[in-house]
Amino acid sequence: MTSDLVHHGESFDGTPLGFATKSIHLGNGVDAETGAIRRPITLANAYALPYDPSDINWSSSDTNLYARNGHPNQRYLEAKLANLENTEDAVVLASGVAALAATFTTVLNRGDHAVFSDTTYVAAYRLLNQILPEKYGIETSIVDSSDARNIANAIRPNTKLVHIETPANPTLKVTDIEAAATIAHDAGALLSVDNTFNSPFNVRPADLGADIVIESLTKYINGHGDALGGVIATRKEVTDQIRFTYQVNYGGVISPFNAWLINRGSVTLPLRIKQHNASALAVAKHLESLSQVRFVAYPGLQSHSHHEVAARQIARSDAGFGGVLAFGLDTDHDGHNRFVSKLSVITSAVSLGHDESLIVFLGEDDERQYLYPQEFHRGFFRLAVGLEDTDDLIRDIDHALAEAEL
Ligand SMILES: *Cc1c(COP(=O)(O)O)cnc(C)c1O
Repeated sequence: MTSDLVHHGESFDGTPLGFATKSIHLGNGVDAETGAIRRPITLANAYALPYDPSDINWSSSDTNLYARNGHPNQRYLEAKLANLENTEDAVVLASGVAALAATFTTVLNRGDHAVFSDTTYVAAYRLLNQILPEKYGIETSIVDSSDARNIANAIRPNTKLVHIETPANPTLKVTDIEAAATIAHDAGALLSVDNTFNSPFNVRPADLGADIVIESLTKYINGHGDALGGVIATRKEVTDQIRFTYQVNYGGVISPFNAWLINRGSVTLPLRIKQHNASALAVAKHLESLSQVRFVAYPGLQSHSHHEVAARQIARSDAGFGGVLAFGLDTDHDGHNRFVSKLSVITSAVSLGHDESLIVFLGEDDERQYLYPQEFHRGFFRLAVGLEDTDDLIRDIDHALAEAEL
């Protein structure tokens, strides 16, 4: 039976429990009514009011009141994720993009300035490059954050936020989190890190100085490709603001069912990530050995220009460099599509961090091509290596290359 100590991530003698133990036990508990050793899904929209409800704060997230203000399945998941990220608190919202938007709209006010990585998830780019500046008068600078000097050079007196994504989607550029934190803090700004490609098993940005950690739970933390969610792990002072603005008043709360699914999926996070890490490294090395492959970008390869930084950031000795890589073939536009059409185990679809391997061809005309390194300009794939047998993935790639006559 899960004890209170375990709920705080500690064992009987006060030593911290390991990541796997915490992934299993935190967020779970015994259901008081039935004695079930799995917490139920609580789908109620509303909760019973006290005799005199007239002095209730209807925007409060502190008690069970209305599901948009916060609900039990969300809170169980939040408690687990705050512990795994090593932050004071966490708030779980409807998607990774909701978590990004909540962070930007909560931390930034009209007239403030933010610096952000030149490759990020496209919604972060859209929000910071276009929507927030045009609609809300927020100033932003887009920089290649993989060289920390570019962040320092972009700082202004009104800089309030530095937002980085590392490894970046889809270029796999790596940013030095500690260096970015130092620059942000010297300027009196906060550092937010989109850690989706790493998950807290591989890298814990809060331990490296980040103030705010964002994960798309849709990806590795749920891990089964069947629920959207996002988390912001940070100080309680910030999560309180996010709950008030983005959750209660913008309405970006997660559904109880998705929170439950993600909590269930996250139980096996450490096991899955170890397999993603090992398989992605093996696939990346194999691709690098093939004459038809023009380039491979994977932070675990010695050839990656920020391999040393990526290795330094890793949280633990059994961690690795994640499951996502990018590569290009020495062929034309149609050759890339022909290759994908011949794959039979790897699926052509967006997303990543699922059990199955997913590949997406990003052609030569992506609107952000000008921000990508030169080798990405002739078209490239993002490959999210899944949990199939590594040999099956390698044979699938070799077979597709041969069938596509590349
Ligand atoms: C997918 C993704 C997001 C967005 O997450 P959703 O859950 O799809 O909204 C944000 N950041 C990164 C790095 C992602 O890969």
